[in-house]
Amino acid sequence: MAIKRPEGTKDLLPAEAQFWSQFRQTAFDLFARYGYVPLETPVFEKTELFVRGIGEASDVVGKEMYNAISGGNLAKLVAGEHVRSDSRFSLRPEGTAGVVRAIAQNGLLQEGGAPIKVAYAGPMFRAERPQNGRQRQFNQVGIECLGTDDPSVDAEGIIMLMRFFEAIGIPQDKMTLLVNTLGDESCRPAYREALKNYIVDHSAELCEDCQRRAETNPLRALDCKEEACAHVMAGAPRIEDFLCDACKEHYAQVKSYLDAAGMAYVEDQRLVRGLDYYTRTVFEVQVSVGMDNNQNAIGGGGRYDKLMAEIGGADTPGFGFALGYERCRIALEALGMQMPDPPAPALYIACVDDGQRSLAFQLAQQCRDAGIACEFDHQNRSLKAQFKQADKLKALQVAILGPDEVAAGVVKLRDMASHEEREVSLGEFVTSV
Ligand SMILES: [Zn+2]
Ligand SMILES: [Zn+2]
Repeated sequence: MAIKRPEGTKDLLPAEAQFWSQFRQTAFDLFARYGYVPLETPVFEKTELFVRGIGEASDVVGKEMYNAISGGNLAKLVAGEHVRSDSRFSLRPEGTAGVVRAIAQNGLLQEGGAPIKVAYAGPMFRAERPQNGRQRQFNQVGIECLGTDDPSVDAEGIIMLMRFFEAIGIPQDKMTLLVNTLGDESCRPAYREALKNYIVDHSAELCEDCQRRAETNPLRALDCKEEACAHVMAGAPRIEDFLCDACKEHYAQVKSYLDAAGMAYVEDQRLVRGLDYYTRTVFEVQVSVGMDNNQNAIGGGGRYDKLMAEIGGADTPGFGFALGYERCRIALEALGMQMPDPPAPALYIACVDDGQRSLAFQLAQQCRDAGIACEFDHQNRSLKAQFKQADKLKALQVAILGPDEVAAGVVKLRDMASHEEREVSLGEFVTSV
């Protein structure tokens, strides 16, 4: 075949498409117990939303976003003409900015009162070098809770995520929950400054990215994957020495809720997450199976108390997380999980010769209308070949329409497991299956 799918994307073939659908449903069912209801937003938004929400200096916005422009506007750009910034769109690189926009734009907080809790699932897009656990289009499931900064929201969200991973079959002892706090607008600036000075002082020992981060986003130097940087940053100023009393108290409460729930976690002061909008709580869940250490985060999130104001809405605190479907799948595969079989039809209707084809069509339709999954031959196969197909589809029963039986007003039904056959009357066919 000449045209192939774009690099870094994946076709979800039937077994996996079914698994993805179950995965999503398991999440929504579980999250509903915590009060989270579904919400869907477009897969593309105005570029400005991500620039303001996620931050221009972040790798995501700076390097990894797929930007889109209409054909007419592209021609204008090529001709050197101006294209308005609100005609520039980007495929969503993550779900939070769009959900927060939707809640603000639709006035959901005014309508239902705070807090509002929503869950979403769908594809996200990043222009990255494809590798195991990193695709250019990938699926995420996530939640957002807007309208309260209460630490109980952070704690129940973290617990809910861990419960989900267990529900899909990742055992607790294969996961590590990392938590940290990043402070807020009253205490983080001083920390940022201290970190920046530290990076500048150690600039010669750090990678180029980290040298650049001194100005743009010094916190990101803390989770640089370069060994030399990790070594240098181990001696960097620590957030705990800069936290204001309110942030200290908030963090302590999140941890005490986790302790009360018996949830094990590891405090990691180098955990900053990739997005600029986080304030206070951040957390990440890593697995010890299926992926190497740089790609082993299967989910994470945190608090973003300034994000809605940043994108032009009312000043509203928020908390959320996202989990990666593809990485969960890799972990589950490493744990020995098999993809589910596609659902088998309850019935296959076979014809002895061409004379029964139109009756087979009618009976199949009656069965389907009655809620019975049913298939018949669409390709004029021989009776033997029809049985082969019924076997392949794992049909539970096969109805055999022969000229003599049909003339007598009966149909033969064969149970494919026991090979037992019985005759049922044509008039009661649908209720006899
Ligand atoms: Zn570095
Ligand atoms: Zn603070």
